[in-house]
Amino acid sequence: MHTDLLPSPGARLAGRCVTDGQGEFTVTSPVREGVLATLPICGLDEVEEAVRVAERAFEGPWPMMHPRERKHRLLDLADRLQADGERLAQIETLDTGRPIREARALDVAQSVARLRWFAELADKLYGDVAPSGFDRLATITREAIGPVAAITPWNFPLMMAVTKIAPALVAGNPVILKPAEQSPLTALILADHAAETLPEGVLQVLTGPGEITGEALVRHPGIRAVGFTGSTATAQRIMESAGRHGMKRLNLEAGGKSPHVILSPGLAGDAMIDQIAWGVAYHQGQVCDAGANLILVGGGHDDLIARVAARFDDITVGDPWDEDIDLASMIDAGHLDGVHSAVSGAVARGVTLRCGGHAADGNGAFYRPTLLDDVPASDPVFSEEVFGPVLAATHVGSPDEAAALVNGSRYGLAAAVWASDTGEAMQFARRLRVGTVAVNCYELGDIGTPFGGTRQSGLARDRSPYALESYSELKTTWAALGGAA
Ligand code: ADP
Repeated sequence: MHTDLLPSPGARLAGRCVTDGQGEFTVTSPVREGVLATLPICGLDEVEEAVRVAERAFEGPWPMMHPRERKHRLLDLADRLQADGERLAQIETLDTGRPIREARALDVAQSVARLRWFAELADKLYGDVAPSGFDRLATITREAIGPVAAITPWNFPLMMAVTKIAPALVAGNPVILKPAEQSPLTALILADHAAETLPEGVLQVLTGPGEITGEALVRHPGIRAVGFTGSTATAQRIMESAGRHGMKRLNLEAGGKSPHVILSPGLAGDAMIDQIAWGVAYHQGQVCDAGANLILVGGGHDDLIARVAARFDDITVGDPWDEDIDLASMIDAGHLDGVHSAVSGAVARGVTLRCGGHAADGNGAFYRPTLLDDVPASDPVFSEEVFGPVLAATHVGSPDEAAALVNGSRYGLAAAVWASDTGEAMQFARRLRVGTVAVNCYELGDIGTPFGGTRQSGLARDRSPYALESYSELKTTWAALGGAA
């Protein structure tokens, strides 16, 4: 990786690369020594200017453009990202420590695919006509809402940015993107490509920490909607701040602690073991919908536990530039310490460690996939999000107890149900109060299905046409058909 591939270091404000702010912060890599970039901390002044520019863009061509033209502009942006894909993948790996193979196959490829999917939606959205008297016409249309703030997490920087901005842009809004301070670099490249194809001010990027830059955006009365993915604590804070400073639409996707519920004894097929193991190990478990709990109903699950542990032990962890590596680094050493202390705390409280439970050698924050067994449901490693490759297994006596655990969790993002009788699994799935439930698989959908949670997993529905609901508002127009009364 050559450092000359890095984007020029600055926020992207009103079509300019801006290096001044209220101080600066550095971006480092978990897998390389030294500083990758020094970026400005955008504060009140920069937020003020960005919102002014976005408000101007909202008066300009973007929301008034024929939807087909918006589609072509966004497809053009997707083509540019694809053409620059190798550079984006390399930078994503540097910034997050994730395997280069994944950065290419998932982060870049999925970002391009998601952007194209939303672009294609732009000219296929219809409004409604309400029932009315013969001399009246009442139309119901979805209108752009105004400047949108998109505040994104560090785990999948480019993909989360695209997932948040695409529906907001398709709806006709200008967007101000605030990427996570740990991994903001691909957002800058995204903005540079957008500058070539979208009207000025339609996509800006402000850099800085959440408590300063993010908070200032959320509080600004000119911001009409906030799209966010991150922790539950931050989502709650955003709700408070947004409520105290006017009203805005909130699309908040927060934490999760998604369980697999195993209803039948003796299940341990290869595909099932793979999906349970990878459902939590993938990307070092730094995924909001990681399948991080295993709820085993009744007895007869010894083989399943043994096989998941063996699968974990087979997973290779190390150098992200190694094309064959399964898992690479966590976002930073501090995060690894947090994951390890959650594991060692549980072990100290008497939980059984079946495998893993320690860091792996190498230049990076590497952690071995870990299986904890006999975890009391009251233990924090079961009830709290760990955001690491840690599976916590607990044993319960009946499906009712399992359902009570799932529905009693503070989180409700996703769950999976496994049973030899699909009807039984489907019926159990209907009892679960979660945003997505998988039956006899751990596939949580793709761009075409809505994604988001219940309870403290947030209010969001990302992906699918439903995502547009957070970034648009309904307008009713009444017309007298006989001419002016
Ligand atoms: P994590 O704990 O996984 O880092 P956060 O919720 O802290 O998750 O971060 C997700 C995103 O929210 C990041 O872009 C971060 O900068 C931003 N953020 C953090 N605190 C605030 C806040 N008070 N207001 C707005 N955005 C914030």
